[in-house]
Amino acid sequence: MSTPKIYLKPGKEQSIQRFHPWIFSGAVKKIEGNPADGDVVEVYSDTNNFLAVGHYQQSSITVRILDFNKNEITQQFWQNKIKEALTLRRSIGLYPNPDTNIFRLIHGEGDNLPGLVVDIYGNTAVMQCHSAGMYRSRNDIAKAIVAEFDEEITAVYDKSAGTLNLHENFSPTDKYIVGQPPAEKVFFEHGCKFEVSWEEGQKTGFFVDQRENRKLIEQFAKGRDVLNTFGYTGGFSVYAMHGGANSVVTVDSSEKAIDLANRNIELNFPNTALHKGIVADAFDFLKSSNQKYDLIILDPPAFAKHTHAIKNALQAYKRLNLAAIRNLKPNGILFTFSCSQVVSRTDFRNAVFSASAISGRKVSILHQLTQPADHPINIYHPEGEYLKGLVLEVK
Ligand code: SAH
Repeated sequence: MSTPKIYLKPGKEQSIQRFHPWIFSGAVKKIEGNPADGDVVEVYSDTNNFLAVGHYQQSSITVRILDFNKNEITQQFWQNKIKEALTLRRSIGLYPNPDTNIFRLIHGEGDNLPGLVVDIYGNTAVMQCHSAGMYRSRNDIAKAIVAEFDEEITAVYDKSAGTLNLHENFSPTDKYIVGQPPAEKVFFEHGCKFEVSWEEGQKTGFFVDQRENRKLIEQFAKGRDVLNTFGYTGGFSVYAMHGGANSVVTVDSSEKAIDLANRNIELNFPNTALHKGIVADAFDFLKSSNQKYDLIILDPPAFAKHTHAIKNALQAYKRLNLAAIRNLKPNGILFTFSCSQVVSRTDFRNAVFSASAISGRKVSILHQLTQPADHPINIYHPEGEYLKGLVLEVK
């Protein structure tokens, strides 16, 4: 059977020639060969020039490009892609690394594999498929991962039930597609220990993308009273303690998250009296707090998932940052983040600018933060840049 073909409308080949990895439904002129969701298709211009090979899906993103050359998507293809991705992680010192065995192996479009995320936790790979094509290829991808790591990866957990929002043809259940759960689920990041549960936790179990920003906290924490809001696993709190904080409070609205944060503090600092975990809404906590802090971390979930929600999201960032600034002692430090992909760096900074101006405090930017190198941004796919952060000094 020949590979189904997608023909684009005149002019719509331009973004593909500039290596943008998606074809939207509005760009499609004609489909030949009746592809099913997840099938590999070939893409052609209106004038019948070959453009790319990709995964088809009946949705607003109709094709996710796998290759701009006319190659077959074989086991060798997956093997090559995993090798490329692992080579990058090796070259930036993430693998092998005795102090850090948590990292992102595949970051979707940033690793030229649109629709696929793979995080590594020790000997386990946790995979999230965002497209039918990746989901249908999951066993081949898992095989390639095990082979590329010379069988050092002994388990692959597929966690696509929440990311593959598809129709009736697929009903993924989260499960091990290779191996068994490890006996112990404690992993390392810059020498800090973290318990990670990919089965129960958010995303793949851990926010791998904040690794370098968490590390930066150490520089600022010494002798400071620290408030870590939206704390989840207590990542920033553990690093603040490492940095010599005077006290650390972790706030999260989820009781499970605070239990986990407490356990992670205990793992690293048994019997410490310096940390307190509090289950509370961060906005309410900041508003009603009568204690002031030297260092506050704001790492909320994405406030805007779609462009129509941007305005409300910016208002929320402004309110949150204002509340935090009001809780900072003189010469305090604020680590503030946005992981909303649709909120631009400039818009986020403007929201923080407004909060600063309303507070009447003098504020300087010390660092401008982003996602780490194992979350690469494909320059032809700027949508892949999502994590923005500022470190501010508040006089
Ligand atoms: N900083 C964390 C990641 C934060 S993820 C890290 O380094 O790993 C966002 C967290 O915010 C989640 O744990 C979620 O439970 C929590 N959350 C969401 N809304 C909240 C709210 N209104 N108040 C407090 N916590 C909230």
